[in-house]
Amino acid sequence: MRTTTVIIGAGHAGLAMSRCLAERSIDHVVLERGEIANSWRTERWDSLRLLTPNWQSRLPGFGYEGEDPDGFRTMPETVDFIVCYARSIAAPVRAHTNVMSVRPRDDGYLVVTDRGDWNCRTVVLAAGACETARLLLNSKSGRFPNGVANSSGQVGRNLTDSVGFTVSGHVPALEGLPRHNADGVRGCVRAQAVSDDAIRDEIASTFRESGRIACPHTAVALRVLRELPAQERADREWVVVATAHPAKFDTVVEPIIGGTIAVPDTLAALLDQPAHAELIDARLDVLVTALKRGSQGRSR
Ligand SMILES: Cc1cc2nc3c(=O)[nH]c(=O)nc-3n(C[C@H](O)[C@H](O)[C@H](O)COP(=O)(O)OP(=O)(O)OC[C@H]3O[C@@H](n4cnc5c(N)ncnc54)[C@H](O)[C@@H]3O)c2cc1C
Repeated sequence: MRTTTVIIGAGHAGLAMSRCLAERSIDHVVLERGEIANSWRTERWDSLRLLTPNWQSRLPGFGYEGEDPDGFRTMPETVDFIVCYARSIAAPVRAHTNVMSVRPRDDGYLVVTDRGDWNCRTVVLAAGACETARLLLNSKSGRFPNGVANSSGQVGRNLTDSVGFTVSGHVPALEGLPRHNADGVRGCVRAQAVSDDAIRDEIASTFRESGRIACPHTAVALRVLRELPAQERADREWVVVATAHPAKFDTVVEPIIGGTIAVPDTLAALLDQPAHAELIDARLDVLVTALKRGSQGRSR
């Protein structure tokens, strides 16, 4: 199959680009591994609302026309908004088409997908921050041994997938979501869910066995480690990273260990700061003035 431009991803960025190309009569397709607005359908949770107000959540040529410009969209509303946008611009989306790699050729690129390959002159990567990096890294060739656009070797090094369900943590709403990109990378990663009860039990067991107090996040990793097959545990060194101090979760952890957690000096100093709240207009200059007022108050 051949076209001028292949856009990878039917989220905000890919659809906005589709509209811009259509305006210039540039022939293109939008390849999407799931449905339009896939990230919002599969990598968010029901109670989430946008943190950007309606008036600000817009796409090229498509703004908010409702009666609540200062409201915040729910997830179904966000999906609807993006789907309506795709419809209004008649975006040429090919859904359920997973792009595996992008290979440079003399006259453009070969885009390899699980539904056939595309030849094109230009490619727009709009697959989200992590997936875009992954595609670049997957696109290795003799000319680009580290992957396309990665002569620095830095592509993908500093990314965190904020809702990646490959992380060993327990987010019930993310359980059982479909797996994407069966390109081998997932095969190197394993996910395990830890229930709230198991987390509580782990905090208690760790305290009993070692006197160490784990925060709930650390307890997730400790429980995963505890549940590894004995041989796998013994075969290599394991590192559990404690990402938070248990004093942050005193109301959860203290009843479990039956004692109080000593607050570290730095956290104690923060907690000693006077608390202050005031309502301000959602404008940068108002925020700056309020912050300056606050810091002057403290230095006095
Ligand atoms: C929890 C959360 C809350 C957020 N809240 C807000 C908010 O309130 N306001 C705001 O402005 N922004 C918010 N964002 C940020 C917003 O989601 C992103 O900025 C936006 O989605 C980026 O759009 P995008 O098109 O670049 O990527 P995405 O929306 O992620 O779209 C990428 C698309 O590419 C597809 N894709 C990926 N890999 C492939 C592949 N190999 N082959 C084919 N298709 C592929 C995906 O399925 C997806 O549909 C939030 C993000 C998160 C995680």
